[in-house]
Amino acid sequence: MKGKAAVLTAQGSPMEIWELPVPDVEPWAVLIKVSLANICGSDLHYWRGEAPWRVVPAIMGHEMTGTVFRMGQGVSTDSMGQPLSEGDRVVYPYFFPCDRCFACTHGNRAACPNTLIRRAIPCDQPPHFVGAYAEYFYLPPRHYIFKVPDDLSDEMVSPLNCALCEVLYGLDRVGVSLGDTVVIQGAGGLGIYATAVAREMGATQVIVIDRYPERLELAKAFGADHTISMEEYTTPRERTGRVRELTGGRGADVVAELAGFPEVLSEGINMVSVAGSYLLIGNISRGLKAEIDPSLIVAASRKLVGVITYDPWVVPRALDFLKRNKEKYPFHRLISHKFPLDQINEAFAFAAEGRLSRAALVP
Ligand SMILES: [Zn+2]
Ligand SMILES: [Zn+2]
Repeated sequence: MKGKAAVLTAQGSPMEIWELPVPDVEPWAVLIKVSLANICGSDLHYWRGEAPWRVVPAIMGHEMTGTVFRMGQGVSTDSMGQPLSEGDRVVYPYFFPCDRCFACTHGNRAACPNTLIRRAIPCDQPPHFVGAYAEYFYLPPRHYIFKVPDDLSDEMVSPLNCALCEVLYGLDRVGVSLGDTVVIQGAGGLGIYATAVAREMGATQVIVIDRYPERLELAKAFGADHTISMEEYTTPRERTGRVRELTGGRGADVVAELAGFPEVLSEGINMVSVAGSYLLIGNISRGLKAEIDPSLIVAASRKLVGVITYDPWVVPRALDFLKRNKEKYPFHRLISHKFPLDQINEAFAFAAEGRLSRAALVP
């Protein structure tokens, strides 16, 4: 039996549709039939060659959802102990901690440096299906898997295993308490989710900063009390001043960097209240530099926390968050266009235009 996959043979060149052998399923493993796979900002970076991709030929893509196609011997439930059968709709983390490193053995699996090790397997070798842009996705033995409630659509859950889970985990790590003020730098996909998550965690005031009016409008629809337009408040000093004005001069209890530019760090730290926290998620590109004044961290006892992936407990909570809030926030606005897998190059060209919401592929 074979399955279709969009294959990257060289960074910066169009992907090709290949037919690859569908692998046998080992005990405790699960073969997924992918139903929806999104194009995230990092996929664009890899495709263009702006971030290194370890091996080719490769199947890219990480944000996805699907159904159980085949279960290996031993699998009878999901990771919450609910009975699992073929055909069930599921979500699963795309990160695979190695359990063979210092971080993993010390309980920091979300910081495992080997978490994307499966990217080092070229797709012409078994199990072939290790990326989202394909008909199938192979979950290795004993990986976490969670059943999706019937009332959540594929469009709602497909961004869960990247954007939503990362911000949920990050905001939990720094701790958002009832009555806090939270500032979000950057209203892309992660910033929009963070706005709603901060609100639901009990923040009294959520302030979102971005350049584009349509993104700020979306942030309002996702619970932002105030938005700061970079077109209106053009300097870091003006934006910091506005945050202080909105917080009685104190600054925010939590500031989350979801912009992905190192230039925002100094400004972000300046917006944090005394003993408050600065959460960094957006800056994933290696080698970029930011200029900061360390005394601002020391003198005000501020805390800096970086987050790159998340722990598995986040996934069922993210599902619960979507279930509880599906009428409250316009999640349907986050996935705007769907393309068949055969049109992956058109979909990437579309996504590269820098749209407000995500494009998705239907294998
Ligand atoms: Zn992503
Ligand atoms: Zn590890």
